[in-house]
Amino acid sequence: MKGKTIMAQFDYDLFIIGAGSGGVRASRVSASYGAKVAVAEERYVGGTCVNVGCIPKKLLVYASHYSEDFIDAAGFGWTVGERSLNWQKLIANKDKEIARLNDIYRKLLSDSGVEVIDERAEVVDPHTVVVGGRKITAKYILVAVGSWPMVPKFPGSEHAITSNEAFYLQSLPRNVIVVGGGYIGVEFAGIFEGLGVHVTQIYRGELFMRGFDDDCRITLAEEMRKRGVDLRFNVDIEKIEQTDGGLRATLTNGDTLHADQILYATGRIPNTASLGLQNIGVQLKYTGAVAVDEYSKTNVDSIYAIGDCTDRMMLTPVAIAEARAVAETLFNNNPIMPAYLNVPTAVFSTPAVGTVGITEAEAREKFKNIDVYKTSFRPLRHTMTGRDEKTMMKLVVDGASNKVLGCHMVGPDAGEIIQGLAVALNCGATKAQFDATIGIHPTAAEEFVTMRTTTAPRG
Ligand SMILES: Cc1cc2nc3c(=O)[nH]c(=O)nc-3n(C[C@H](O)[C@H](O)[C@H](O)COP(=O)(O)OP(=O)(O)OC[C@H]3O[C@@H](n4cnc5c(N)ncnc54)[C@H](O)[C@@H]3O)c2cc1C
Repeated sequence: MKGKTIMAQFDYDLFIIGAGSGGVRASRVSASYGAKVAVAEERYVGGTCVNVGCIPKKLLVYASHYSEDFIDAAGFGWTVGERSLNWQKLIANKDKEIARLNDIYRKLLSDSGVEVIDERAEVVDPHTVVVGGRKITAKYILVAVGSWPMVPKFPGSEHAITSNEAFYLQSLPRNVIVVGGGYIGVEFAGIFEGLGVHVTQIYRGELFMRGFDDDCRITLAEEMRKRGVDLRFNVDIEKIEQTDGGLRATLTNGDTLHADQILYATGRIPNTASLGLQNIGVQLKYTGAVAVDEYSKTNVDSIYAIGDCTDRMMLTPVAIAEARAVAETLFNNNPIMPAYLNVPTAVFSTPAVGTVGITEAEAREKFKNIDVYKTSFRPLRHTMTGRDEKTMMKLVVDGASNKVLGCHMVGPDAGEIIQGLAVALNCGATKAQFDATIGIHPTAAEEFVTMRTTTAPRG
């Protein structure tokens, strides 16, 4: 339907609810194919990633790394003078950058001919939404409402904050308890620790970072402990009380901890409550996630859903890939199912984790003969600083086909390194092809093409 709108009986060809990572991309690509598009946004253009997610998080991670850089500089002959952190300045500069990005997103939308409506939208029938008291019709409705942090209810849970508030704290706390063992939890633990805060991280399971390769989980725990993060597993918070000096948390093992802030990073729930979807028969999963097929279509033909609110993989590039696929399918006569194989991901903990493909445990379940190549070493930089830090790298290989099934890393720049390896895995690279690749010397990344000895017997 390139170049013209679909039908005159609707106000729009496509109405999108939510101008986050997914909604913005779907708007722009659909409009580029000639669709008449409007997007409703109730809070902030750019959504979670730009405002309270990936971007501000990474900026704070950068800020947190300076503390150890100042110390490490001594090994290279530098004398670093007195240093202190101005938290208010850091947050103000971060906010300035986010405001700049908000403007860019808005301009991208208006330049594409997309109408932005700064209101909450709700669905009232398969082709109608209500926005700011006004009814608007569309041939297709795309739900891209994202997700929201979830704090479980328990005595004193109202004193807890989430990542949303952590980005806007008035002052830097002296003591923080981070609850939760997922990537957002370890990232904030690293941020606060690097900024000089005493951090205790609590996780109710045996070992945090469930779903990641066990060697990454173990290495990260060791490295975080070396940096001074007080990691406590197999325990949870029972109650939180306000005291004169701050907050007191009582743990399930009877211990008490004092903190200025208690940050819950215990999961995110799809933003689908009171959106009107169930009233018109759109199926939701028990988590509240919108149920969709491989083309992101719900059980109602005119309604599609993408991104975090479908709870497939809560990652910005995945929401963007789903958005593009919907736009291609609906407005370019080019049906696309997004591929979820070998989605690389990085955790911006300190040190960072990067991973693509399957873990050793998954490989052992799915394949008969698995070869594992693993190395752990002190990065070159720390031969001069004396810092006791290890980088871990690991390849999981199918013994029968020689294909590399998974690449895992804990160490500086893990995300930057794993991105390239994701291309190799998507091309079906074998271990022999990794071995035939010349390394870049001296880098940490070269280890991925120089590991020659298996570290575990074939299982
Ligand atoms: C702390 C944190 C760090 C993260 N770090 C990373 C990272 O490093 N890498 C990565 O890939 N991902 C990261 N993510 C995840 C990433 O932010 C999300 O996967 C991504 O933003 C999902 O995009 P989306 O379009 O589905 O939803 P969102 O970006 O959340 O956008 C949804 C939008 O819909 C709006 N909305 C909701 N309901 C309505 C309504 N009824 N009417 C109008 N508007 C509505 C919301 O205000 C929001 O702007 C992080 C998330 C968090 C919280």
